[in-house]
Amino acid sequence: TSGRNAVRFFDPAMQAVLVVKMMLESNLRVALALEQFQLYYQIQVDAEGHVVGAEALLRWIHPDRGFISPLEFIPLAEQTGLIIPIGTWVLETACNQLKKWARNPKTAHLSLAVNVSAKQFQQSNFVEVVTEIVRLHNIDPTRLKIELTESTILDNVDATTEKMQQLKKLGIAFSMDDFGTGYSSLAYLQKLPLNQLKIDQSFVRDLSDDESDATIVRAIISLGLNLGLDVIAEGVETVAQRRFLIEHNCLTFQGYLYSKPIPIEGLNALLDGDASE
Ligand code: C2E
Ligand code: CA
Ligand code: CA
Ligand code: CA
Repeated sequence: TSGRNAVRFFDPAMQAVLVVKMMLESNLRVALALEQFQLYYQIQVDAEGHVVGAEALLRWIHPDRGFISPLEFIPLAEQTGLIIPIGTWVLETACNQLKKWARNPKTAHLSLAVNVSAKQFQQSNFVEVVTEIVRLHNIDPTRLKIELTESTILDNVDATTEKMQQLKKLGIAFSMDDFGTGYSSLAYLQKLPLNQLKIDQSFVRDLSDDESDATIVRAIISLGLNLGLDVIAEGVETVAQRRFLIEHNCLTFQGYLYSKPIPIEGLNALLDGDASE
């Protein structure tokens, strides 16, 4: 009844959640200006153990609350539209890093993947924004990879495909993130200008003791390879998982087995070690 609903409205627990959300939102607004965001980098490695690139992962270091997980603030940034300036900052910072890597023969071959959310990708001038950032930083666009989820693409397949094609003409690569968790139809998968499928970590996690996960992973790998795409596995934590993946022809990995996401200083030290070995 309506009486119950009215009581619910004053539920103190819910009120507390709302207050936290509102505080987070107003903090999020100033976080960019106060330079509280940072990019962390997680390496991507081939079967020989060579670093082939990295994924940029956003971190919010709040002066009072410390680290706030992107799982907590990205949805809020999406709801409020703040994801657009934040996402532009991510792209700019990533391209700035690519520019630095390009100057050093030890790092010039690396690719850098950035996550782009639905609302960000769907902004009407997204292609122009990316084009401008790539031009300003004077980077090789083929080193930049955009990770999109199935739901972002499916939200509006025609418009998304069109934008992807324009960016692909520029040379930018696309990876489909969290692959296997959405509702991919084989028909559109074939039409999308993708370069890579990224096997979701939920399937990789139980690879060794869940027969159905192993079956799904095998199927994703052969699907990807048959479509002429690169296949990368995320969330690789054990040697057994890597062995399984190599046996089934997935030859690029990302996960704690190699490195957690780390600040740029740590990554550069790690790359230096890798190159001198
Ligand atoms: P994602 O794109 O699927 O990123 C992979 C997540 O898995 C990251 O969490 C990473 O730290 C974590 N991870 C990597 N290797 C392992 C592993 O071996 N084991 C386990 N258990 N986890 C692993 P993170 O950094 O907390 O990011 C969470 C999500 O937030 C990302 O999921 C992505 O959807 C979103 N996100 C992060 N940065 C950005 C960004 O710049 N823009 C947007 N739009 N979304 C972002
Ligand atoms: Ca990702
Ligand atoms: Ca993912
Ligand atoms: Ca995920």
